[in-house]
Amino acid sequence: MDQPLLHALLLLAALPLLPAAGALAPPGVCVVGSGIGGASVAYFLKQYTCVEKGGLCLDDIRIFERRGRVGGRMATVTIGGDTFEAGASIIHPKNLHARRFASLLGLNQKTKASKLDPKANASSSSSSPDSSWFGVWDGEHFVFKTLPPPSSSSSTIYRKIHELLNSLLLFRRYGFSLLRMERFVKTTVERFLLYYQGFESRPVFETVEDMLKWSNLYGLTRRTLQVELADAGLSPLLISELVTVITRINYGQNVSISGLAGAVSLAGSDSGLWSVDGGNWQLAAGLVKYTNATLYLHEEIDSVSYSGSYYVLNSTKGNSYNCEATVIATPLDELNITFDPPVLVPNRRLQHTFTTFVRGLLNPNYFGVNSASEIPSLVGTVELPDIPFSSISVLKKYSEEDMTYKVFSRAPLEDVLLDQIFSTRKEVIRINWPAYPHYEAPEVFAPILLDGIHLYYINSFESAASTIETSAVAAENVARLIISRFSGLSSTTPSISSISDQDNLHFDL
Ligand SMILES: Cc1cc2nc3c(=O)[nH]c(=O)nc-3n(C[C@H](O)[C@H](O)[C@H](O)COP(=O)(O)OP(=O)(O)OC[C@H]3O[C@@H](n4cnc5c(N)ncnc54)[C@H](O)[C@@H]3O)c2cc1C
Repeated sequence: MDQPLLHALLLLAALPLLPAAGALAPPGVCVVGSGIGGASVAYFLKQYTCVEKGGLCLDDIRIFERRGRVGGRMATVTIGGDTFEAGASIIHPKNLHARRFASLLGLNQKTKASKLDPKANASSSSSSPDSSWFGVWDGEHFVFKTLPPPSSSSSTIYRKIHELLNSLLLFRRYGFSLLRMERFVKTTVERFLLYYQGFESRPVFETVEDMLKWSNLYGLTRRTLQVELADAGLSPLLISELVTVITRINYGQNVSISGLAGAVSLAGSDSGLWSVDGGNWQLAAGLVKYTNATLYLHEEIDSVSYSGSYYVLNSTKGNSYNCEATVIATPLDELNITFDPPVLVPNRRLQHTFTTFVRGLLNPNYFGVNSASEIPSLVGTVELPDIPFSSISVLKKYSEEDMTYKVFSRAPLEDVLLDQIFSTRKEVIRINWPAYPHYEAPEVFAPILLDGIHLYYINSFESAASTIETSAVAAENVARLIISRFSGLSSTTPSISSISDQDNLHFDL
């Protein structure tokens, strides 16, 4: 049967379970934040209700965004006439919500070479840099380097040999620990896949702890990545070099992050990664449009108070909005939103990642080599206090002397320093991202239900891991929680549960 039709029929079969919302207007939902979390919750609310006449329909959704654009930490930057991802750049092949969103919205998926994949050069061209060519920099030397890429005219056989040699180089340095690392990531990804199970077997969760315990991931938030990997049998060399390089690139932090955040970070060096052609922000923009939610741009919410039957959201412009449910879809850690009555959210520090885009050329002297062409396309770094950046990667190679680079660092890179690292600089763009939580095992989680009534917080899940997909997964759970609570159903039991063949249904969303 046609999948969308099957989907609609299955939802119709389920909806008699949901009591009618009554003769009054259906509850309105206000969402603070138009990143992937806010856009996804709107999408799932609409998708999981509004199917049967007289049934619960949560389609009165208003999304407030303080900026003039949708997408939050999914954003692009234009430098030297070319546009690149400035925030979230890669999506894992098993991130099923993101994949479904992209195909639902007709967005093209662009394959991205993994940051540290020896096979990545297969499709590289002269202008797209070879990300399989990476080096581990200790502030003075490259302690490890893969081979420079073969020329674009080399034969397939030569490329295969090159790929094999790179794998052998990695194996010679890190040995069987590489396989143990792969197993660790695979097991974590498999557990995460449980969040795509059908409603019948997947409860609605009221706390992040319950959500993680159910999928057997909670333990990984209690111990550091370093401890987890040592227990998994990884060598100290692999942990202090390759693993550290990856966590510094993906979370700007070292192996003292939690095992779960670490596994998610390591999954970011798997093969098969992709992004949305034209920018990942289109996932959020597309969902907002698809859902027909009312979007208020340049509308910063600075207070949320509960009147006894509805929430009043006030904006910095002096506007007020009333809604029966409110979803906070942004980290509260560095915001000044006041809540009345107050809400209790544990202190959480955000890791700031300074992203500096430079069009120019790296300075070979800084890296102790004779020519910039000897510097790998991706320079990762180990955890040493004097290294001023986490990574430098080539985004585009215009010629041997003219490239666009992305530099991640934990502190701003002043001009004086850039003058040392780069021999020429035509253009520089700096972004200071309040990027993701500063992970510290054992993690403490904020509530999902902030006030026990209808005030929900998606980004409590970010203390487990911060990605496009984890935001979507957390948002889907919040949508189900809202539906359960408006339907008067117990939230810990499946709420829209009489649907059969749930896996098909879910993947069709
Ligand atoms: C540099 C960087 C690299 C990353 N790389 C990746 C990656 O490769 N892959 C990946 O999957 N993830 C990556 N991430 C993480 C990913 O971007 C986030 O986990 C995800 O985008 C979070 O989405 P969100 O909707 O929860 O929050 P956000 O995207 O932060 O959205 C929150 C929105 O709320 C708005 N807002 C805040 N306060 C208010 C207010 N008071 N009123 C109204 N609006 C408000 C904000 O302006 C923002 O638009 C990266 C993040 C950064 C910063």
